[in-house]
Amino acid sequence: MILSPTQLERFGALLGPGGVLTAPEEIAPFCADWRGRAGGQALCVALPASVSACAEIIGFCYRENLPLCPQGGATGLVLGAVPDGEIVVSLKRLNRIRSVDPVNDALIVEAGATLAAVQECAKAHDRLFPLSLASEGSASIGGLCATNAGGVGVLHYGMMRNLVLGLEVVLPDGRIWDGLTALRKDNSGYDLKQVFIGAEGSLGVITAASLKLFPQPKAFGTALAAVNDLAGAVALLTYIKGATRGAVTAFEAMPALGIKLVCDQFPDSRSPLSLAHPWHVLMEISHGRSAGAAEELESLLSEAASEGLLLDAAIAMSEAQRQAFWALRERLPLSEKAFGAALKHDISVPISAIAEFYDAALARVAQIAPMAQVIAFGHLGDGNLHFNVAMAQGGPLGALAPLEGEVTGAILDLVALHRGSFSAEHGIGRQKLDDMRARKSPVALDLMRALKTALDPKGLMNPGRVIPPLPPAKESETS
Ligand SMILES: Cc1cc2nc3c(=O)[nH]c(=O)nc-3n(C[C@H](O)[C@H](O)[C@H](O)COP(=O)(O)OP(=O)(O)OC[C@H]3O[C@@H](n4cnc5c(N)ncnc54)[C@H](O)[C@@H]3O)c2cc1C
Repeated sequence: MILSPTQLERFGALLGPGGVLTAPEEIAPFCADWRGRAGGQALCVALPASVSACAEIIGFCYRENLPLCPQGGATGLVLGAVPDGEIVVSLKRLNRIRSVDPVNDALIVEAGATLAAVQECAKAHDRLFPLSLASEGSASIGGLCATNAGGVGVLHYGMMRNLVLGLEVVLPDGRIWDGLTALRKDNSGYDLKQVFIGAEGSLGVITAASLKLFPQPKAFGTALAAVNDLAGAVALLTYIKGATRGAVTAFEAMPALGIKLVCDQFPDSRSPLSLAHPWHVLMEISHGRSAGAAEELESLLSEAASEGLLLDAAIAMSEAQRQAFWALRERLPLSEKAFGAALKHDISVPISAIAEFYDAALARVAQIAPMAQVIAFGHLGDGNLHFNVAMAQGGPLGALAPLEGEVTGAILDLVALHRGSFSAEHGIGRQKLDDMRARKSPVALDLMRALKTALDPKGLMNPGRVIPPLPPAKESETS
């Protein structure tokens, strides 16, 4: 498909100067995948600078039967925003913070603003927007809503779904739904915002969000603790959650190998604990009093040590140390990427099952692919592990590539055994359609298809993402 000169002229008229890109070198950055897999192709890139321009362009595409791919920061990991012959609708120019409302603890922001910009704005008003992830400098509010992003604060604050009060959405036919609200209670019918959160752009383009703010913590207690295995990490988590009465906001697990990769890749990173300890957990508590959190955590960890719940621990005694501890975790995805290609599995199981799952999955990988190295890390406090399988020496997938189906099948079977999810926080995009087809219940898929058809009857909004196409009907079914 190519765009006609008349269509392109209309785009230019609707979007204004700089609003439409057509030259291959201008389009290329909007077609790249963060993980560096095959790039996509776009008919053009539309950059609306206002909600009305966004609605006009989407309405025009609806009438002309042109497919669209909404895009924010393009940090998604499942090829949802990598175009596959559509028009990219980039929200980059729609990035204003419209209002901050400290009385209602709410902030209204346009979809193209980065998470970092929202965090900074909240902080300037002595508030916290608690979503936090390593891509926060680029990931956009629209993309975070569309993927129902998680990150390192979910344990205490929940996922993006729990942090959104309302949305503004341009529907596939170009109508605008203004659902921006600061209300905490509104039972007047279906909670429509939740339909668009996690829909990965398949039901409409989010143009703005009303977000929940929280009190800005005054003091943090941040520690790295070493444990022998994930069972030990879960025991420590249970202890800390109980002892702090739920004040623990983050609990991240990293294997010693992961920390070594970070220290190799970033010479200014250094582990305060011996890498001879197999697992490190990064934990944080926070409170509204101006001091004492570090001391509180130190005393809890020394009690935990006396009960044999950890091997060693280091407490951050300054903000610089806290940032250095967090850098070990935040630099892990980049360091792992630099180490080599990997078969990625963003899985979750109940926290109580995570150690059993991990041990069994490790054993299955060793059986199927003895040349492989598992690098699993992530949000242990949420039961979410990024269970990545690389070659032991790093580099390209090599001999692991032909074993992908078997390795992934074995891991996801174990996830299913524990009633877990094959996609904990990254979504489905174009990458996990086979898993959706094979592992999601047919009833759930029917409901999703019904929603998709109701909202996007022409199937133009991010086609080929999230919902696998139905298999072709057999002749007897069509006659
Ligand atoms: C280093 C790194 C660390 C990460 N860590 C985490 C993590 O801890 N937790 C986590 O959940 N994710 C993580 N991610 C994944 C990613 O950052 C999130 O999925 C993020 O929400 C994507 O935001 P984005 O603006 O880049 O969206 P994009 O990549 O541009 O798009 C993602 C999806 O949302 C759709 N979309 C984008 N904008 C809109 C819109 N305005 N309206 C409708 N649909 C839209 C796209 O079509 C696509 O399907 C990480 C990624 C990287 C690179």
